[in-house]
Amino acid sequence: MSHPKLKIYLADLTHETVVLVSDTIPINIGYVAAYAHKIHAGQIETKLFKYPQSLIDAIKSDPPDVLALSNYSWNSRLSEHMAGIAKKANPKVVTVMGGTNFPHSADLQLAFMVRYPNTDGFVELEGEVAFSNLIGRVLACRGREDKIFDAPIDGCVSIRPETRGSNAPVLVKGHAPARIRELDEVPSPYLTGLLDHFFDGRLTPFLETNRGCPFTCTFCHTGNLYFNKINMFSIERILAEIDYIGPYMQKFGIKNLHIADTNFGMFLRDKEICESLLAAQKKYSWPLQIMSTTGKNKKEQIIEITKILGNTFSVNMSVQSMDEQVLKNIKRDNIKLDHYVTINKTLSDSGRTTKGELIIGLPGETKESFAQGVRKILDAGVTSLGTYTLMMLHGTPFQDPAYRKQYEMVGKFRVVPLDFGNYDGTRIFDYEEVVIANKDMSFDDYLWMRGLAMMVEVLHNSRPFYEFFRYASIYDFKSFEFIMLVYGRIRQAPKSVQDIFDGFIHETKNELWDNAEDMIAFYTQDKTYEALSRGELGGNVIYKYKAMSLAFAPEGWVDFLYDTCIDIVRRKLGAQELMKAEEQLAVLRQFVKYKLCGALNHEGDTTDKTLECNVDIVEWLKSPLGTPLTDFLVEEPIRYDFKYTPDQMAVRRDQFARYGTHVNAISKFITRCSNVDSLFRKITTSKNVGVESNKSEDYDDFIRYTLSH
Ligand code: SF4
Repeated sequence: MSHPKLKIYLADLTHETVVLVSDTIPINIGYVAAYAHKIHAGQIETKLFKYPQSLIDAIKSDPPDVLALSNYSWNSRLSEHMAGIAKKANPKVVTVMGGTNFPHSADLQLAFMVRYPNTDGFVELEGEVAFSNLIGRVLACRGREDKIFDAPIDGCVSIRPETRGSNAPVLVKGHAPARIRELDEVPSPYLTGLLDHFFDGRLTPFLETNRGCPFTCTFCHTGNLYFNKINMFSIERILAEIDYIGPYMQKFGIKNLHIADTNFGMFLRDKEICESLLAAQKKYSWPLQIMSTTGKNKKEQIIEITKILGNTFSVNMSVQSMDEQVLKNIKRDNIKLDHYVTINKTLSDSGRTTKGELIIGLPGETKESFAQGVRKILDAGVTSLGTYTLMMLHGTPFQDPAYRKQYEMVGKFRVVPLDFGNYDGTRIFDYEEVVIANKDMSFDDYLWMRGLAMMVEVLHNSRPFYEFFRYASIYDFKSFEFIMLVYGRIRQAPKSVQDIFDGFIHETKNELWDNAEDMIAFYTQDKTYEALSRGELGGNVIYKYKAMSLAFAPEGWVDFLYDTCIDIVRRKLGAQELMKAEEQLAVLRQFVKYKLCGALNHEGDTTDKTLECNVDIVEWLKSPLGTPLTDFLVEEPIRYDFKYTPDQMAVRRDQFARYGTHVNAISKFITRCSNVDSLFRKITTSKNVGVESNKSEDYDDFIRYTLSH
């Protein structure tokens, strides 16, 4: 008997209650669908979804035979909820999930699946072959749907149907399929047009050039040996994809690109990819902000390969910890410190930027070793240092009871920033378990480390207040020491700054829950849900308070840093010199206030500002660290013009239109912007004001963000 084509919906969902949280084009389901079409040509039809409401509408109006959903910490519960909606619409629907948020060991898989009663099966590890195996079984069992999960399917895990809901559920687990060695066996979802409808002006393109990672970090899903070997897509295909995406990005004015690779730049052929991206920049004005993780070693090669992209691509210098014992505990090798320093120097000498990364809560990391890690990374000259709290992800040893016991890991639950919403009348929250104490770190230590991380994020990253760091360096304060001084004086800060700091600590404590059930019960209440929706609760706390600081309280921070510098000079200078220093610092204070004025704030003042003074601040900023500002006093006044350029105003409009204007929207944008400093006003100088404007030059900071791992 012939059947109609099997109707398959695939969804890589994102919450979008406050802001579009996962804003990338879903290549993951694109690959899975493209491969399924190749294997089951003519027997299936597929529809791909990103937005929850579109999926709900489609399920209700035209229920699918199979619903496949991605499963990450940020959408796992949402996907399970959608599986429930699909079951109501068509009780015979086969529901399946695939993604990194799934354990590797059989006992943990069973425990996990019991908590997902609407999901029939899970695809584990690499998805394309496993999903096509499942579809093969579904096709073979048409009319006998109750038999689909009777026998194991390679790459899939399920619960034997008759034991579901019983006290003794039985796991049915197929063999893990071999990984696809020649990735071109998976047709391109871009070039086959499967992803065309995601070019909608909201989503950012995602490109994958290879898969796998040679490293084995315990906190990472990809650290599993299964993913150890690196497999490639062909270079011809990648270049064709870039050319395919470019015109769409030009049409919608989208400027960014995510590259999914875990070690971009570690392969010689990546140079060709960079050349193609550069050509696309010239042709389509895209991509001007490229986010990717770069390899942990072969840094010289990575620098060389990516240098043609300049500051549209930054080199990742993630270390996660600078402590040898911690690195052993998490089975991670970092490059040596002196090598790290040299590479940072090479990059900064050529005007390029780097991003370091640390994790709070790794086994063996103490408050002191963490602070030393921050010091070493800042001393090495990284332009930005991101700090994250350790997530105890499924599929990593941090969900293994024995491993947790060994390090006395204490986990608490929190909503994944902004990942919640009301779907078909039910409030759904995605959440994660994070480490807030272990045998080497008390909860108070955790809070202190988070406070330091916030200080680094607000003060150091994207260099909003760089001029004060330069000033402190005259008196031998390195970046870390200056930050520690500011951190130690927080109770002397203006009220706007203290409120921000107190709010940060309060939210850092209050976002944590002993168990997910209590947390969900709390957030589901009308009052708390509304507070979440308004952004008063939830969100990425560090970025939220950075956004607040830069958008709504830059003047308070500037005044505080000015006071801190005054405090430094008071200890060092006599009365006469002190007065001069105070005058110069006052000029610097105004300089920074004008630079930041209106940034990130949709109601902020964007009118042009002008400052005239007898200090050549721009030349001083270019001089070696520690050079006195007094060396740059000039007779004739210099005029500084602080303006938002037409391009910057266009970026502002795009930012507020795509992300929104409230604090959580701004914080999301900050995480998505590869160069937050480029949002500050451009500064031009005209020397010899009143005589003849004989020189004009731009002063531009050089900070960029990338994702890291
Ligand atoms: S953290 Fe990065 S380097 Fe380590 S295993 Fe994961 S992807 Fe590889």
